[in-house]
Amino acid sequence: MWVYRLKGTPLELDALIPELFDRGARGILEGEGEILAYFPARTDLPFGGEWEELPDKDWMEAWRRDLKPALAPPFVVLAPWHAWQGEGIPLVIEPGMAFGTGHHETTRLALMALARHLSPGERVLDVGTGSGILAIAAEKLGGKALGVDVDPSVLPQAEANARRNGVYPQFLLGSLEAALPLAPFGLIVANLFAELHAELAPLYREALAPGGRLLLTGILKEKAPLVREAMADLTPLEEAAEGEWVLLAYRR
Ligand code: SAM
Repeated sequence: MWVYRLKGTPLELDALIPELFDRGARGILEGEGEILAYFPARTDLPFGGEWEELPDKDWMEAWRRDLKPALAPPFVVLAPWHAWQGEGIPLVIEPGMAFGTGHHETTRLALMALARHLSPGERVLDVGTGSGILAIAAEKLGGKALGVDVDPSVLPQAEANARRNGVYPQFLLGSLEAALPLAPFGLIVANLFAELHAELAPLYREALAPGGRLLLTGILKEKAPLVREAMADLTPLEEAAEGEWVLLAYRR
């Protein structure tokens, strides 16, 4: 097993992740200003990274050792093998192919915003649930969550992660349209991207209860004006940022 260590800005590295998977990476770890991509064999890559060979039996061990718990107060996101004695509400997420291990800025922005805006008992919709992490966090805060995703491969992973955490959100294949028959929701959280948020604006409004809150992330700073414009008839509540990424919160 070989590990390819690549340095760059979060934006540059994020853009390369799909390509590294396409070129055969079996797993990727994101750290401060670098990523580690694990490959079964050394291969020609044009990105200027450094290769290191790991003895076959050690690569899984190295992967596990390098993956640290992710802090998103009041949550701490743990892999199933992490032992955690510190503070925080634990979210146990198996790092697989579904997005949402807590190591991306946008997931952490959404987790922290959920804790600021969710009231116990509230019905919560998580659009683009991936690993299920936000729906699971919403349930841990006392919400009743529904997670939807257009990618059928992530739903079994989301369900397994929910079981690991002893909570049982509902998961459905589809996008906002799939959730509309179950509306209204007191809170909607969506970690997608700016253009898609703008496109979904009328459906967000339709799915929200009067006074409901909308937490939108996956938005690059320079794309925030696009989302602000599309949400102009909602009341802005707050904006939060981490690195190149922002979260915008609204009330209907
Ligand atoms: N919610 C997780 C998190 O915050 O870490 C995962 C977010 S990941 C960036 C985006 C997810 O949205 C992916 O799992 C993708 O399949 C899903 N997705 C993309 N377009 C979608 C759409 N139109 N409706 C619902 N889900 C969508």
